[in-house]
Amino acid sequence: SSEKWEINPSELTFMKELGSGQFGVVRFGKWRGQQRVAIKAIREGAMYEEDFIEEAKVMMRLCHPKLVQLYGVCLQQRPLLIVAEFMENGCLLNFLRQRGKALLESWLLSMCQDVCEGMDYLEAHSFIHRDLAARNCLVNEHNVVKVSDFGMTRYVLDNQYTSSNGAKFPVKWSPPEVLHYSKYSSKSDIWSFGVVMWEIFSEGRTPFENRSNVEVVTDITRGIRLYRPQRASQPLYAIMYRCWHEADGRPSFSELLEEIRKLAENQD
Ligand code: ADP
Repeated sequence: SSEKWEINPSELTFMKELGSGQFGVVRFGKWRGQQRVAIKAIREGAMYEEDFIEEAKVMMRLCHPKLVQLYGVCLQQRPLLIVAEFMENGCLLNFLRQRGKALLESWLLSMCQDVCEGMDYLEAHSFIHRDLAARNCLVNEHNVVKVSDFGMTRYVLDNQYTSSNGAKFPVKWSPPEVLHYSKYSSKSDIWSFGVVMWEIFSEGRTPFENRSNVEVVTDITRGIRLYRPQRASQPLYAIMYRCWHEADGRPSFSELLEEIRKLAENQD
């Protein structure tokens, strides 16, 4: 049976390779002749496919201008294909590293606002991202930033990535309650969002650059936090810093959005 979230692979044209990640190779392509899409081919053994297919139905219904839209999946063949909105300027982390210097502070702030708007929508729908980081945001042709890969770590078949003491676990984006008890919530996403703001204002630097994951766990537990990036104003740093409070003291995405908007208004 063909469902609304199922895409017929014969309607896809594969074009150039865009990159590759945890799940496999991503290609640029066309859907039904004209719609520009990104097509992710899931490498064998990389994903809990059945669980993902169930969840894909939920993810398809998440629609927001600051979320990378999932268009559908090709299920009848292997590799499994995931078809999503095409984002011309690729991942935010590379974008910041290559073009960050040329971006005005007001633009850096609007990128934070984009991510916050996407996350505000996820929070409102009680959907936890679990791996928010600049590497999991994408940039389109108008330099609008959108949140991608939401909830996807739940389907990764790689202990190094999913176990909090694994080498690929995003320790530097994780709050104490995730590091110690794997307690995920919108409040843990807030912590990660603070780190994304830090990545944006430091033009794509790696947080805790010269510290190992083990050292960062110790530091964070002791209350040590990321320093203020040179391009971040004091009020802006105060916003990101609130994201790194104990879970109860962290703002919500809707509160953050208000604060970011106020800051943006005062700039121009
Ligand atoms: P994975 O989820 O398998 O780890 P990623 O989502 O990180 O893979 O994708 C790998 C790379 O492919 C990204 O860094 C980016 O360059 C490219 N890419 C992924 N999705 C898109 C998209 N929707 N539009 C444009 N490029 C994309």
